[in-house]
Amino acid sequence: MSLDTSTLYLVATLVAALLGAMLLFFGRQENIPALRWWGAAYVLGAGAIAASTLTNSFLSHQLSLSLNAIGFVACGMVWGAARVFHGRSPHWPGILLGAIVWLVAISFLTPIAPAVRMTIGAAIVAVYAALTASELMTERRKAMKRRWPSFIVPVLHGFVLMLPILLGDYFRGDDEGFADSVWATVFAMELVLYAVGTVFVIFMLVSERTVRAHKAAASLDPLTGIFNRRGFAEATARMIEREADAGRPVTVMIFDIDHFKSINDRFGHPAGDDVLCRFAGVITNSLRITDLCGRIGGEEFAALLPCAMEEALLAAERVREAFATSGIVIAETPVDTTVSIGVAGGPVGTELDVLLAAADTALYQAKRGGRNRVQSASEEPVSLEQGRLVTAGHPAHAARPEVVLSAATMSHASA
Ligand code: GH3
Ligand code: MG
Ligand code: MG
Repeated sequence: MSLDTSTLYLVATLVAALLGAMLLFFGRQENIPALRWWGAAYVLGAGAIAASTLTNSFLSHQLSLSLNAIGFVACGMVWGAARVFHGRSPHWPGILLGAIVWLVAISFLTPIAPAVRMTIGAAIVAVYAALTASELMTERRKAMKRRWPSFIVPVLHGFVLMLPILLGDYFRGDDEGFADSVWATVFAMELVLYAVGTVFVIFMLVSERTVRAHKAAASLDPLTGIFNRRGFAEATARMIEREADAGRPVTVMIFDIDHFKSINDRFGHPAGDDVLCRFAGVITNSLRITDLCGRIGGEEFAALLPCAMEEALLAAERVREAFATSGIVIAETPVDTTVSIGVAGGPVGTELDVLLAAADTALYQAKRGGRNRVQSASEEPVSLEQGRLVTAGHPAHAARPEVVLSAATMSHASA
């Protein structure tokens, strides 16, 4: 089977133009600037191949060769798109450098041997492919396993283009026929595969990012920006497992803002929302970056700390004090804001629900003890069932000596 090079280049041009139009369309529709960049690069690349092929017959050879510079700008733009995708700005001097090198080479190295010319062209494209691959590589390590195609596709592209150079003089025996040699066919076919492969990679990256964004949105509380109940449960499950593997304890705390309803009643719901945000800020600022916290109900928050009870009690006390002294002013009226906190630890590997139930019981004690205080559950929770019974204030609780709740471990006078 013999393949006609011109036909192959025509197919490559049409495929690139079609994919470019598709990327531009989706880029506009989904408002993703990187897709528009990739689309523009494809359309420009297709235009460059078409212009250089069509004008070959009536433009001077030199002028026709110069048109290839547009193609190198397109390659630079593919790299620019990868930068835009990662929120960086495109590097214009870098994008244009390949075209400039090409124009200088064909202007000053005349008469230039077709093999040398092709080597320079291939090297420019390979450099941009390497830059694109390294840009796509720099995404967080965690996601790397699934994103190997984003690295492999441009690397293979660069490798195929560099093959004649790597194989060296072996293929350069006949310089005259070099441009029409087997490499012209290989390049045309590779161009089509690369164009299609890259679009596959692009959509893989975009869809991965969209899924990640939706996942994050589903795990976060829109009001305070910290985890919601679901996000908190997921994140803590991972931490509990990790700490259990290492044989280390974790401690859970539940925070419930005192007399919050009266803040709503006196100042209105939006002011109440504002206090919730301020409290979320107090928790995140008072706890360590390794601690997890979330809003698990209306004015209830929870945190999971990878440490033992004694250390967690100090952290809880820090939160209590920071909130009590936060000096919140609503409508020019200073408002006393306090929080009650229940803290519970458990044997290594205890489930979140069990710990939460025990912390909730301690919280209930804190409320009864006068609010604005930290209360620990002295007995480690034994089972979820018992925790539930206690939380619900089940009468059976009194008859169950296994779950013993402590008196205030660290109590403070109510504000
Ligand atoms: P206690 O000291 O016993 O905890 O009293 P409290 O008033 O804080 O507790 P209660 O459970 O009686 O009231 C909680 C209030 O929180 C009732 C509800 O209207 C309010 N609330 C729940 N979610 C939100 C919210 O998203 N925004 C605002 N502003 N208020 C909320
Ligand atoms: Mg409450
Ligand atoms: Mg409350």
